[in-house]
Amino acid sequence: MPAALIRIENLRFRWADDADFCLDIPLLEVHAGERVFLHGPSGSGKSTLLGLLGGVLVPERGRLHLLGSELTQLRPAARDRFRADHVGFLFQLFNLIPYLSVVDNVLLSCRFSARRLARATAAGNSPAAEAHRLLTQLDLDASLHGRQVTRLSVGQQQRVAAARALIGQPEIVIADEPTSALDTERQVAFLELLRDECDRSGSTLLFVSHDRRLAAGFDRQLSLATGGGVSAGGSA
Ligand code: ADP
Ligand code: MG
Repeated sequence: MPAALIRIENLRFRWADDADFCLDIPLLEVHAGERVFLHGPSGSGKSTLLGLLGGVLVPERGRLHLLGSELTQLRPAARDRFRADHVGFLFQLFNLIPYLSVVDNVLLSCRFSARRLARATAAGNSPAAEAHRLLTQLDLDASLHGRQVTRLSVGQQQRVAAARALIGQPEIVIADEPTSALDTERQVAFLELLRDECDRSGSTLLFVSHDRRLAAGFDRQLSLATGGGVSAGGSA
């Protein structure tokens, strides 16, 4: 088997003001192209783990190996660059910029990464054309692409956030409970589109949710226990 795309080893993280919580991961590997469903109850440390993988948080000890780079060895500016270039984040509350249009929100990922700008240009002739393609593929009608994002429904904003995570084909797409505001049927439909687009761009998908009903269609399931321990759940 080829080297893992993500390899976490002997990792420990604690928040300074939360003595009860300790994220402890002896070994976690994700391979290129895998679609992994990370499950765990609220407060089990899912978002904390994603913050570590994004290089926003730094562990107390252990290794965080992504795409051949050891995140814990990078300086903060290099970690930020690494994240912008290689990781597409889809947040629970989307974190869209309210005064920008749909397309300009999607293009933000390209503004922060020359690599993703180049890849979006190669994929779509222009970054804007690639943004339009992604939005349409994610089922957001072209008539809405020029609109200010605050004038969209929550379900529509989710599509925008997904397109922003996907543009420029980052190797890793990380989604932190982006579907919790939607009913189950719409969540499932959205997940199918997200997985299709990850397949198309060859992105590895790490999808996080407290809702196990969404696990179907993923290659593998991992679980975080209350208090921060991780276990492999086998195939989803
Ligand atoms: P989940 O995403 O699984 O709901 P989190 O990673 O958000 O869990 O939280 C795990 C634990 O870390 C919780 O006990 C929470 O209170 C604590 N925590 C999360 N964010 C912070 C923070 N910024 N400062 C201090 N403690 C935090
Ligand atoms: Mg969370």
